[in-house]
Amino acid sequence: MTSRRKFIQQAAAAGVLSVASAYGNDSPSGRKLGVALVGLGGYSRNKLAPALKMTKHCYLAGIVTGSPEKIPKWKKDYGIKDANVYSYETMDKISENPEIDVVYIVLPTGLHAEYAIRAAKAGKHVWCEKPMALTTADCQAIIDACKENKVTLSIGYRMHHEPNTQTVIKYAETKPYGAIKSLDAKAGYAGPPQGRGWRFDPKLGGGSLYDMGVYPINALRYGSGMEPTRVVSAKRQLNAQGVDLVDEFVLEFPGGVTATGRTSVIEAYNRLRVECEDGWYELKPMSTYDGVKGRTSDGKKLDQRTESHQALQMDAEAQAIIQGKPPIVPGDEGLRDI
Ligand code: NAD
Repeated sequence: MTSRRKFIQQAAAAGVLSVASAYGNDSPSGRKLGVALVGLGGYSRNKLAPALKMTKHCYLAGIVTGSPEKIPKWKKDYGIKDANVYSYETMDKISENPEIDVVYIVLPTGLHAEYAIRAAKAGKHVWCEKPMALTTADCQAIIDACKENKVTLSIGYRMHHEPNTQTVIKYAETKPYGAIKSLDAKAGYAGPPQGRGWRFDPKLGGGSLYDMGVYPINALRYGSGMEPTRVVSAKRQLNAQGVDLVDEFVLEFPGGVTATGRTSVIEAYNRLRVECEDGWYELKPMSTYDGVKGRTSDGKKLDQRTESHQALQMDAEAQAIIQGKPPIVPGDEGLRDI
């Protein structure tokens, strides 16, 4: 770390210099942002870390984990230095590490707020997985902490970076099939009912509404381009421990547009359908890791392929930071769903 780079980072952190002017408009130096993943579970291991090998504007620089036995493999697979390995207890020391620009929270949902706020207080940009937090108060506390510490906050809504989804988001604006009349969104998976750890613990964000429900809720919002005004009805199916296995709901949007949603951890489905005055369109599947595709009533295919939503997401959000622009998916987007 040169003293010039250290000066630039300190100045940027203090708000004296924007990050854009610190690193140049499109990082002409070729510098990539260093990302530290907090929580090395399935999503970090199988999706985010491999995607960070594909990204052009950021790379995996560090890890924060409570499982020391995982460290050697992560160091070997991603060339992570000893100095960039933290435990949950030592994580706050990341403030002293100039190689980490972004801290990405990939923990069980009930822990997002605590760790996102700690990352912000360490002066690092924060990326936080979905769903943002358990309560709107926690979401707001994350937003406030990022604002107070002058760091960027973005939520891991990979669909906003997926090209077929982006087409549907545009349709809500341009209305090529006339006014939207109704929408239907469903996202669920069926797996073994036992042994899903925190995903069945309400204190940590378990249950279908938190785990999968943000997909249909978010899809109804981006699919309509509006915010719901009313929950018309909502129904849930609980297991013996009170954890929701299925949730269904009807929302009302401005102009009398109605939307139905369903989410589950015991039923498999995945689609968004939008009915309009002069036709319809749908994404089916709408949020699986690969192969999001769709069609329209006049025979158009929405089938642009992407290798990794996560790489698109992290590159776009890294570029926003480098260029000093607002995040593509800010904290407010996560807050509204909660
Ligand atoms: P996981 O269970 O596979 O991993 C969770 C990690 O957190 C593990 O490494 C575990 O050791 C650690 N952990 C720390 N404290 C814990 C505690 N008190 N209890 C349980 N685990 C603890 O989960 P995951 O699938 O990696 O999900 C992590 C986050 O990522 C969740 O918020 C989830 O909603 C989100 N996620 C997002 C997507 C997406 O497509 N955007 C996909 C999967 C998961």
